[in-house]
Amino acid sequence: MKRIQVRIGDQLILGNGAPVAIQTMCNCNTNDVDAAFAQCQAMHAAGAQLIRLTTQGLREVAALGELKKRLLQAGITTPLVADVHFRSDVALAAAKVADKVRINPGNFHKDHQEAMRIFRELITLCKNTGCVLRIGINHGSLGERITRLHGDTAHGMVEAMKEWVQVCREMEFDQVVLSLKASNTVVMVAAYRELYQWMEEQGYAYPLHLGVTEAGNGRSGRIKSAVGLATLLQDGIGDTIRVSLTENPVNELPVANFIARYFERGKDQRPTTFSYDAPDMDSYILEAASHIGPLLMDHLVDDFELQGTVQGEPIPTEELQDIHDELLQAARRRFTKCEYIACPSCGRTLFDIEATFAEVKRRTAHLQGLVIGVMGCIVNGPGEMADADYGYVGEGAGKVSIYRKKERIYQGIPQEEAIDLLLNLIENDRDSAR
Ligand code: SF4
Repeated sequence: MKRIQVRIGDQLILGNGAPVAIQTMCNCNTNDVDAAFAQCQAMHAAGAQLIRLTTQGLREVAALGELKKRLLQAGITTPLVADVHFRSDVALAAAKVADKVRINPGNFHKDHQEAMRIFRELITLCKNTGCVLRIGINHGSLGERITRLHGDTAHGMVEAMKEWVQVCREMEFDQVVLSLKASNTVVMVAAYRELYQWMEEQGYAYPLHLGVTEAGNGRSGRIKSAVGLATLLQDGIGDTIRVSLTENPVNELPVANFIARYFERGKDQRPTTFSYDAPDMDSYILEAASHIGPLLMDHLVDDFELQGTVQGEPIPTEELQDIHDELLQAARRRFTKCEYIACPSCGRTLFDIEATFAEVKRRTAHLQGLVIGVMGCIVNGPGEMADADYGYVGEGAGKVSIYRKKERIYQGIPQEEAIDLLLNLIENDRDSAR
């Protein structure tokens, strides 16, 4: 079995036993180079080994080049990743500037053969520039062709990925990282495991970038991320991780670092007791989630009792009960709360998603069993919240769209009225179902 190593920038190595690298993504406007520089500095100080930036157009590619120069002048060599959706001209331009470009080649063109042609052109360019590619296929953006052929499933994600991997193999291009993200931990774990097994059967393994998309914020976002990521890392699957939180992206790094290092500390992977003594509450919940999450996901335990202390003080019973319930829900074993899919926001987000998400959560927390999406942009938001029952999607300029499943029910709603309308819609649907 050939385990491929990928070199990103001058120093970062992924794959073939290299330590799991942690990464994050700026959520400021990439064209605001001052803001992006400040955010990258803070991320670098917090341990980011790779930083991604929204790259919607050619203007953003130029800004990314400027940012890279400024970071180098400041002694920051953290590789930069251009996040490109849909536009192949932007991907081609970014491959000359960024250390890595994240694409879903299937979105380059509606015609699959044309998308393949563009992908080959991009690979040829990357061979010359030394740019690494991440092929990222998310559950929420599988596309009509793959969904028709294989369903909106983990297997469909893997089948979509195989097509692009085979092109890389034919062209003998191995500077590639693969990702199959989903907000549903069960789908995400199943997709990565199937892809990894297929790569083993083929006799080669590309590095994998792991992520639970739209995990939300706070305790539930941390627990959901840890459950999905730890389950795969425990299997030895995964070379770099990103924790997607709807918070300041700098907050993602200590969480990612905890999870990435968890299995390097020689932890007992099959515990019999669930008692932890932690220095702070975040460490407590991350340790519990990284420890128990894989057991729940693989049905090795059905229920458990939590104990423990934070700084030597016993944790109140109701806190332990809440963490217990969040863990069961994150592993999709028992649903006792409203579930949220909230994007981490990026340069496409034109409103304060953190505050909006907090307000949506506050007003909908009682809606047990529902899945509510809160998304930062109309370009990718509706696709990415594929699992949600209802969705709040920011359009920019103070306007919002409200979705029921995949159907847009309201468009162009002023932000101040949007949460009321969302609640009314849910109430009316519940009344008609009674
Ligand atoms: S849904 Fe839109 S705003 Fe949110 S992270 Fe994705 S691209 Fe950015």
